Amino acid sequence: MTKTIISVDLNKKATEQPFPLHNRWHPDIPAVVMVDPGETFRIECLDWTGGQVSNNDDATDIKNLDLKQVHYLSGPVAVRETEPGDLLVVDIIDIGPLPGNEWGYTCIFAQENGGSFLTDHFPHAAKAIWDFDGIYATSRHIPEVKFAGIPHPGLIGVAPSIDMLKRWNQRELELIKTNPKRVPPLAYPPDHESAAVGSLKGAEAERVMREGCRTVPPRENGGNTDINSFTKGSRIYFPVQVKDSLLSVGDLHFSEGDGEISFCGAIEMAGWIELKVDVIKQGAKLYNLNQPVYRPTESQQTYSNYITFEGFSVDEENKQYYMDANMSFRRACLNAIDYLKQFGYTGEQICILLSAAPVEANIKAIVDVPNACTSLAIPTEIFSFDIWPSDKRPTKHPVKRKLTVV
Ligand code: ZN
Repeated sequence: MTKTIISVDLNKKATEQPFPLHNRWHPDIPAVVMVDPGETFRIECLDWTGGQVSNNDDATDIKNLDLKQVHYLSGPVAVRETEPGDLLVVDIIDIGPLPGNEWGYTCIFAQENGGSFLTDHFPHAAKAIWDFDGIYATSRHIPEVKFAGIPHPGLIGVAPSIDMLKRWNQRELELIKTNPKRVPPLAYPPDHESAAVGSLKGAEAERVMREGCRTVPPRENGGNTDINSFTKGSRIYFPVQVKDSLLSVGDLHFSEGDGEISFCGAIEMAGWIELKVDVIKQGAKLYNLNQPVYRPTESQQTYSNYITFEGFSVDEENKQYYMDANMSFRRACLNAIDYLKQFGYTGEQICILLSAAPVEANIKAIVDVPNACTSLAIPTEIFSFDIWPSDKRPTKHPVKRKLTVV
């Protein structure tokens, strides 16, 4: 049995865990444990919010969720004798929910509290609970679907150097200045409120809370990439930025569709992850790598049959955008939602389903002016009924329990 080097206690608050958690990036957050290159170990994680979401039918916890607390990360784990210029090799050995806690959630955040990719179509908070049965997920809030999860960490990364941290803060503050009042904001600056900085205390903790970057976006250290390929059997190479690497992980997902469109769009869970670490000395320098690269798992894909929606860079009012892949993917999502509504689902149910199920997003062509062409592919086998077009009217399936929207 692999040894657990960091454990969590679901009965305790995020701020009272046996191993202190952190929710900011900063090189001065102390390591909680040290491992050797070549070692395999298990780390337990709270869900990304630190236990703010309950297993019930009411989305009020999502409407009122304190986003300044996210993401609670386990670590940092120091990897002995690694240094800047090295490549830290991280193998994802396995991931799962904590025993006795086999459930997760997917949410749409309210426009005034985080928003989402389709926030102007779905401005209110909504929540679906998923139950896990082995590899499968089902939801009492989205009937007639069942799919195999691809568990992965939404967030895994190494500590930035002080210089890197300064560069992040500089560029993100410049962006915020272009529209400081925007809702939701263009980016999130360092924020002292609700900051957790591990075992630091006193003036040192205060300084790190003021300087530490929020964990919201992915950056050159990895971080919140939300890449669903980081599943069992995958490998990530991180350019090391500081002595001993300082690896942190959290935001475990049971499943996630490409794009994670509803923002809290994966199936979020508390859980465990087994990692193996190794080092390629001066590998980042040798290969001129300035951010992580990865190798997806070689294990087989689960689904083979996809109904695939296309998107072009034209908005809902017929306004033409020039080669805008973001607008194009937005339209692919909205096209899928319009179609699936014909089977009796609400828009919120489909938005959440497209976020959580193993859907695939692709850029198909980015040269045919003025339209970027993207696609959104939904595995048809996840539905208990036939969703292909035919000469019959689509069957409205009874929606046993609707999502609450608050
Ligand atoms: Zn997540």
